[in-house]
Amino acid sequence: MHPDLARLVVLQTHDIEAKRLRDQIAALPRQLATLELKSAATVGQRAVVLDLIAKEDALRRRQESEIADRKQKLARTQKKIDAATNTVQVTALEHEAAFARAEINRLEDAELESMERGEALDAQLALADQAVADAAATLERERARIHELLARDRAALAEVDALRAALRTQIAQSDTGEDSLSTYDRISHSKGTAVAQALNQRCSACQMMLRPQRWNDLRDNSADSPSSQTLMTCENCGHLLYYDPARDSPQRPTVQVESIAAQIVRSL
Ligand SMILES: [Zn+2]
Repeated sequence: MHPDLARLVVLQTHDIEAKRLRDQIAALPRQLATLELKSAATVGQRAVVLDLIAKEDALRRRQESEIADRKQKLARTQKKIDAATNTVQVTALEHEAAFARAEINRLEDAELESMERGEALDAQLALADQAVADAAATLERERARIHELLARDRAALAEVDALRAALRTQIAQSDTGEDSLSTYDRISHSKGTAVAQALNQRCSACQMMLRPQRWNDLRDNSADSPSSQTLMTCENCGHLLYYDPARDSPQRPTVQVESIAAQIVRSL
């Protein structure tokens, strides 16, 4: 393997980790904002229930005062009936009294219905109270967790960025290092990643079969082999290809072979 490529493989693991951390650092405040919206929504739903309860209470107060008015009126009519002297008058007043009683019955039925709605609303309010409390507790807990996670991610990112910078400096020091880095950056910029492992004669990025000659070159680890002299790319997708014997020995699955990346990390 080209010596720059071995380091680029490690650089890519740092780059991927740095991207993961940056994405997470960007996503966490959005998660928190979603929870804040949910919590505010429960407060809004509770306010709607409270408003309905207030309306129902006002309706009931109006019904009660109307019932009281009509009962007073009925009592007056009743007195007039008692004092009445002719049948025509009595008949008219009794008709009036019957109408008043019917109205009182109707209003009392309506008040009963309003009380039933009020009870249902009280139950809804209890649920809304619980939802508000639950959402607020979740928000508090998640806010603490997210702040802790953000602090941890930022610290981890600073460490990874320091590793990346050190490794890039180290790569740049070789004769071919600057070129290798700019090739790496160009491919990584356009494809997301720059380096792909050749595994079972395939490019692990695009899964295309490699031509036998290229596959043999990649696996040839001697000092004057093409893969030791140049950075080899996948002819299909353009990723820089490397071959790691530790990951490509299916016939000896029980033998522990340290991966090239791990060896380099250890040697840094
Ligand atoms: Zn490919």
